[in-house]
Amino acid sequence: MTLPEPSGGTPREAPPLLSDTHVHLNLDRFANDREAVIRRARDAGVRLLVNVGFDLETSRESIALAERSESIYASVGLHPHDSAKLDDALLEEFERLAAHPMVVAIGETGLDYYRDLSPRDEQRRAFREQIRLANRLDLPLIVHSRDAKDERGRALADVLAIVDEEEGGAAGGVMHCFPGDVEHAKAVVERGFHVGIGGPVTYSARGRLFGVVTEVPVNRLLLETDAPWLPPVPHRGERNEPAHVALVAARIAEIREMTVADLARVTIGNAIKLFRITGGSAPSVAYEMRGNLYLNITNRCTNECYFCVRYESDTLWGYNLRLDREPTVDEILEAVGDPTRHREIVFCGYGEPTVRLDVVLAVGERLRALGGRVRLDTNGHGSLIWSRNVVPELARAVDAVSVSLNAADAATYESICGPKFGAATFDHVVAFVRQCVKAHVPVTVSAVDVPEVDLGEVRALARELDVPLRVRGSGAPRRRRA
Ligand code: SF4
Repeated sequence: MTLPEPSGGTPREAPPLLSDTHVHLNLDRFANDREAVIRRARDAGVRLLVNVGFDLETSRESIALAERSESIYASVGLHPHDSAKLDDALLEEFERLAAHPMVVAIGETGLDYYRDLSPRDEQRRAFREQIRLANRLDLPLIVHSRDAKDERGRALADVLAIVDEEEGGAAGGVMHCFPGDVEHAKAVVERGFHVGIGGPVTYSARGRLFGVVTEVPVNRLLLETDAPWLPPVPHRGERNEPAHVALVAARIAEIREMTVADLARVTIGNAIKLFRITGGSAPSVAYEMRGNLYLNITNRCTNECYFCVRYESDTLWGYNLRLDREPTVDEILEAVGDPTRHREIVFCGYGEPTVRLDVVLAVGERLRALGGRVRLDTNGHGSLIWSRNVVPELARAVDAVSVSLNAADAATYESICGPKFGAATFDHVVAFVRQCVKAHVPVTVSAVDVPEVDLGEVRALARELDVPLRVRGSGAPRRRRA
């Protein structure tokens, strides 16, 4: 499966590349203008749609639609309303359909105690069976949950209990049309699920979904419309369609204080990763975010931080940062273009830039000469790697340095960062910070908020070093590597 390229225009001219991970375009309500609806979605920038089946017929129709359109993928499954119909033969048929190359998920399955159209024990049985099917086929789940409360009235409780008991969502999944509050969202994210947000996020200024959208890590958000249902403002009362996902994206971007382009790129990246749609973007040497341009010049690093995002994914903020080779100085400068178009040019990426010190120096000095402001994000190992104090050289090439301090003592640092140079590394990192201060290079230290680290102690050390501290969230929960 491949993600289609945008048709025509440069990326700067095109609308943001959007995704809609929950549509039902096979339904009769689109019978008269389905192709026009798909065209409008494409014109609005929607490049990835998942057409969701909810019984045998709609699952087959979803596949047929996906076969006809390069931007549409399919899911197969049985809605909780029809749970009582799930027998071995039907399950086998879903398994057969799921082998189709355009099928990217199992669902829509789950629990619906609001309409209760199937007995609840049948709903739970069918949900369990489809979780097992998804796990067997290594496909993500698309979960519908409506009023699936336990006796104590806790929303989503029955869905989460079954997910836990069945170890569901081994390949991930999405809680479609997210029905809970912030606490539920955290519980869902902890279980490895994404949170699907659609039109209801536009219904009130600071309602339930405002908190959810604010708190959920952006790498766990998915955009959806549930078309033909749940149209966003100002289309309430009309038939919904995937082009309106742009309104959902605009509202989420506003809440999260991101640009729509950034939000769109991150969420389509989330969808590509979750649904394993290949053929996304080529590796990025330079990637733009929040007005800065980040440079990804190497994937080598002298640390192995267990929380490092590069162990989780090839993509960050929707950019593929897994390099197939290290770029040359000329290629990096070409990728940057005019450095004054960006607030800062930051050496960062999926590796430690000072592993390529000569490149950092050559590129940094050139960009500064062209009027750019340059920052180095580093693990502070540069002087250790090159067996000399490299700060005076860096002082010519960068305007500021940010050092990942990450701990207040050597033992914690070694435990969480796994430095290649061993236990003495932490003292070298601290010495590197002192060298920057001494050389009058503006320096910030950072620490990731993980349980092993006492941030109070890191703050005290930063005060002692007389440098500002920036605490970074660890994003989605990550497992400690063995
Ligand atoms: S220093 Fe940075 S790039 Fe290297 S492993 Fe740690 S978090 Fe990842």
